[in-house]
Amino acid sequence: MSFRTRLTLFFVLIVIVPMVALGVVVARLVTDSEEGKAAARAGAYAAAATSVYERAAERGARAAAAVGADRELARAIRRGDRRAARTRARLLAREHELVRLLIVRGPGGPSAGNRTASPDSGAFVDLGTPLAIGAGSARIRSRTGRAPLADVEASTIDAEQFVRAVRAPGVEVVVRRGGRLLASTLPAADSRGIPARGDLTRDGTDYVVAGFRAADFAGSEDSVSLLTDVSGTASTVARNRRLAIALLAGFLLLALLGAVVVSRQLQRQIGRFLTAARRIGGGDFSTRVPTEGDDEFAELGSEFNKMSQELEQRIDDLRRERGRLRDSIQRVGETFASNLDSRALIEIGTETAVEAVEATCGRTTLREPAEDAPDGAEPHSVHVGDVDRLATVLAQAEARARATGAPAEATAGDDSALASPIPRALEDSAPHGIVAVARSGRPFDEEERALLGSLAAQTGISLENVELHDQVKRQAVTDELTGLFNHRRFQEVITIEVAAAQRFGQPLGLLMVDIDNFKQVNDTYGHQQGDVVLREVARILLDSSREIDEPARYGGEEMAVALPQTDLDGAFTIAERVRTAVEELAVPRLDGDGLLHVTVSCGVAASASAGKDQLVAAADVALYTAKRTGKNKTVRATDSAAMPAETEQA
Ligand code: GH3
Ligand code: MG
Ligand code: MG
Repeated sequence: MSFRTRLTLFFVLIVIVPMVALGVVVARLVTDSEEGKAAARAGAYAAAATSVYERAAERGARAAAAVGADRELARAIRRGDRRAARTRARLLAREHELVRLLIVRGPGGPSAGNRTASPDSGAFVDLGTPLAIGAGSARIRSRTGRAPLADVEASTIDAEQFVRAVRAPGVEVVVRRGGRLLASTLPAADSRGIPARGDLTRDGTDYVVAGFRAADFAGSEDSVSLLTDVSGTASTVARNRRLAIALLAGFLLLALLGAVVVSRQLQRQIGRFLTAARRIGGGDFSTRVPTEGDDEFAELGSEFNKMSQELEQRIDDLRRERGRLRDSIQRVGETFASNLDSRALIEIGTETAVEAVEATCGRTTLREPAEDAPDGAEPHSVHVGDVDRLATVLAQAEARARATGAPAEATAGDDSALASPIPRALEDSAPHGIVAVARSGRPFDEEERALLGSLAAQTGISLENVELHDQVKRQAVTDELTGLFNHRRFQEVITIEVAAAQRFGQPLGLLMVDIDNFKQVNDTYGHQQGDVVLREVARILLDSSREIDEPARYGGEEMAVALPQTDLDGAFTIAERVRTAVEELAVPRLDGDGLLHVTVSCGVAASASAGKDQLVAAADVALYTAKRTGKNKTVRATDSAAMPAETEQA
């Protein structure tokens, strides 16, 4: 059942049903009240009419008594003198203002009964109008007072007078005797068939009928009907009902209006909540519901808004977290791509550390200068963010970490720094360096300390990998014993340099060096001593070489140096420098028994056009010549490159 249906049902139950019931009750009450009033009015008129009639009857009785007491009349009746009696009676009637006077002789008179007899039959005297009503009676007795002479009945009011006295606006009066109409305020035709009491409609007018009966002349009976006009009552009832209905309808309308307004407001509010909830469901967290007033809806609204704000915040956090994760992944990718370059590695490591712990700056300092750094270079150091502003606290943390070999913190006022050694895999060896991060406003917590430690460990492992890689690379091209390039590297270098020389038309010199009588050294002092000699000669070759030269161990105790942009004379000069340096070399004997001296023979060749093999062969031939012609000397190859040059004494 929808909310709207429930509201409607509630409204019907709580307002419409009670209001309709109340309406019915009010209508009933209105009717009853008006009808009651009409009945009361009719009753009051009837009572008034009865009272008028009774007073008339009393007057009639007094008059009858007075007439009955008249001696002269009594005498005339006794005598049976009707004329005299009539004359006297007329006098008395005038005297007592009677409208009718009836005298009946002898017992069994009018009061004695015989009601079926005609009232006028047997009347001794009958004066006045037959319309007279409200008769009072008296008895005329003989002188002895025993035998009754006659009965007297007298009236002071006739029906018409009575009707005039009783009538009132809205009240009709009808007086009848037996079936005969005596007087009526209604037209004669309408005066028939009127019930003793109850409701009656005549000529479109509604009446309530009330009345009474009374004994009258000669045993007859009068009936008096009072018709109270209640047409007004019906219209009053109708009017009051209309008023009640109008009031009820007005109230219902008001209630309906109120209900509609309240329901609309409720529905609008709920609708707004629903829309907002749907939007949030759809991922739009910027939605807010308006919160007017201070009712429960406003409270609900503000709670709702808080909730969506909280959600928005959470989503933002998640988004930021995801951004950071993406950056981290990107950095890891960059680390792979950096192809194990230690500088790039610590740059990425520092950036990651700063990001991970939400610092504003960071610095990584390696303990030793980079391998390829120039001599006397500062230790490798990279920084991220504005380290100068937090330099003091950063340096403090670094110093503590360096001193203790463990993660350390430093704070100065609002600033905090966190530093961690970058450990080596071997626990007792000195760490690679220190990574430190700093920020203002909030000290670092346990989680951040652990995170930095873990990142430092990762960086340490990565740095070791770089070192290992460098080492393998070096080993691949280096001769282990002498530290010179190996034969393979020499072949690479000479190939490249020959190509360059041919391309640019510049001479490429080649120097080949062979230790004289080396076998003898081995044989005399042992191989280890031979190795020492080999290393010393190699060192001289390195020291005598220029930046661009790459001396190599060609094989056994034979060494070679390619000399770019060097002609034969240049090569010769270098060879002589090497030869004389070796000549002056004194190698301490391993047995400690003095010093050892060796010499070398050199062959040099140079060409801008010769191929690799040609050049090597030429230098080789020159070297061979030097050996053959006495050793400890340098021989130039001939100009024709492939041909050995003339021997030349140093
Ligand atoms: P020459 O003056 O004609 O060059 O005579 P040599 O004895 O120097 O020449 P030879 O070719 O007869 O001997 C070379 C020796 O060098 C043989 C080998 O034992 C020695 N040798 C080669 N490589 C090494 C090394 O790595 N260490 C040591 N100790 N000896 C080596
Ligand atoms: Mg030799
Ligand atoms: Mg040799």
